[in-house]
Amino acid sequence: KDGATAALSPTPTADALPRRFADFATVPEALEYAARGVRGLNFHDPRGTLTRPYPFSELREDALKQAYRLIAAGVKPEDRIALIAETVPEFAALFFGVIYAGAWPVPLPLPTSFGGRESYIDQLRVQLQSCDPLMLVYPAELSDFAGEAAAQCGIRGIDWQSFAETEAPAAPLPEAKPDDIAYLQYSSGSTRFPHGVAITHHALLNNLAAHSHGMELVDTDRCVSWLPWYHDMGLVGCFLSPVANQVSTDYLKTEDFARRPLAWLDLISRNKGTTLSYSPTFGYDICARRMSSQTKASDRFDLSRWRVAGNGADMIRPDVMQSFVDAFADAGFKASAFLPSYGLAEATLAVSIMPPGEGIQVELVEETQLSGSQADNDDRPQRFRAIVNCGRPVRDMEVEIREEDGTPLPERAIGKVWCRGPSVMVGYFRDQDATDACMADGWLDTGDMGYMSDGYVYIVGRAKDMIIINGKNHWPQDIEWAVEQLPGFKAGDIAAFAITTPGGEETPAVLVQCRTSDDSERSRLRDDIRERVRSITGMNCVVELVPPRTLPRTSSGKLSRAKARNLYLAGEIKPYSIAA
Ligand code: ATP
Ligand code: MG
Repeated sequence: KDGATAALSPTPTADALPRRFADFATVPEALEYAARGVRGLNFHDPRGTLTRPYPFSELREDALKQAYRLIAAGVKPEDRIALIAETVPEFAALFFGVIYAGAWPVPLPLPTSFGGRESYIDQLRVQLQSCDPLMLVYPAELSDFAGEAAAQCGIRGIDWQSFAETEAPAAPLPEAKPDDIAYLQYSSGSTRFPHGVAITHHALLNNLAAHSHGMELVDTDRCVSWLPWYHDMGLVGCFLSPVANQVSTDYLKTEDFARRPLAWLDLISRNKGTTLSYSPTFGYDICARRMSSQTKASDRFDLSRWRVAGNGADMIRPDVMQSFVDAFADAGFKASAFLPSYGLAEATLAVSIMPPGEGIQVELVEETQLSGSQADNDDRPQRFRAIVNCGRPVRDMEVEIREEDGTPLPERAIGKVWCRGPSVMVGYFRDQDATDACMADGWLDTGDMGYMSDGYVYIVGRAKDMIIINGKNHWPQDIEWAVEQLPGFKAGDIAAFAITTPGGEETPAVLVQCRTSDDSERSRLRDDIRERVRSITGMNCVVELVPPRTLPRTSSGKLSRAKARNLYLAGEIKPYSIAA
């Protein structure tokens, strides 16, 4: 541990600058303020060694230079500038530079291991067409991919190294107003193609202030993050929040986390102050798995000062979180540090968060009740799911549970989750139909189902993921998590959805990532899974075993059942053929 402490990042936590928690009217105002102190962003190599300290003051200077270059390049207020959101100083400076120039940055994803070159270019192309930017700026290493996508759309493409070499004189900058749009944020694309959400300065700062208030941010807090900047949890929670709240932050690239996940925990161990760090459940899962085969956690890590271990962006799995505690309690990790939260791109980021120190609280709810089926005339055996308490609505946010027709539901009744508040989007960019489909009188239909109890929000699942067979509802995760309990599977190996058989019948189908190459073993597994699903749903189901890493994930790492279904039906996911 001594070696790790010696490698501490140089940016001090102490700062004479009085702390202001996102109480700014606009994004430039927030950066101007942070730049007066000594804190900043710190970029690390794959092993977690600091390679580039980037104080907020330097970020501000670079952002201004980028704004002048953009203005010299003909950028006008409200133009969109698409940026491939790699976790590097160049992206950070351009993001703020675009805002200084009055234009709207649009963070776009990096390639992921899933899908390959063509599917990445396709996705970029559709996103570029929908946000219609003046140009796309990207890391030089991606010239081949991103340049190609830009060319296909007839958009100017340039790598940021070349862009930063252009000379530009200082120019007057337009003044940002709180109700102006600050940037566009794409949703993850779990249920449909990612949608571009327009976020105003006021919406952003309101959500950041509410969020820091809810987390009871303290002066010793430092943030550590590997979350991608093209996803709201990474961009808003771990990039814009640190600027607006003047919190020093240590970054690992997402791809480096994927290869060496424990480097995340090394960075946290090294922080002498308190740590804020977030991850969807899968990040905690990967770390717990990596640890189990190793030596004692306390030999390498000290997680005792991890104050807020945030979790959100997808279903929170209490069983997985418990395995993280089992693996790292020895290194001082406290289960009370877990901080469940719920949010979505359309609400800027957070809708609800748990008060710090309360950890993960669950309620056991009968599955038939969760899916809205009548328990008494249902032939399914009684089963329960642990539903995680996702905390209280953040300051200024209202949450209401409603019936399909919009009628408000009482306490503890499960229905559609709606929310309203200053950080809810003005709408999707240039998509009035999609906006009208989810907004009414300032209220946003989140697309999620859940309930409220005693002022706390509980999320049950996405309405669009619900499997409806013969008028009965089933949650895919209840099926998936039950199948996962069979030996040899792990979280995320299974996707459940409904299909129509050639005979015209609706039936549940599960795709299961399977590691065995033995044919008779596969055949046995398939029978076990089928039996398992029958015991849960009371129905026969289609079981297909597929190779590992086949199930599609969003760029933010979430399982997309909708995409899995489409790819399967299109014959693009090829199951193993198994002798009957
Ligand atoms: P798309 O809207 O493009 O289909 P997405 O909804 O996954 O994708 P995001 O806005 O990134 O895109 O994610 C927000 C969604 O993530 C929420 O609407 C909800 O479905 C899910 N989510 C977020 N937090 C939680 C949580 N704590 N528990 C369960 N689900 C959550
Ligand atoms: Mg969504």
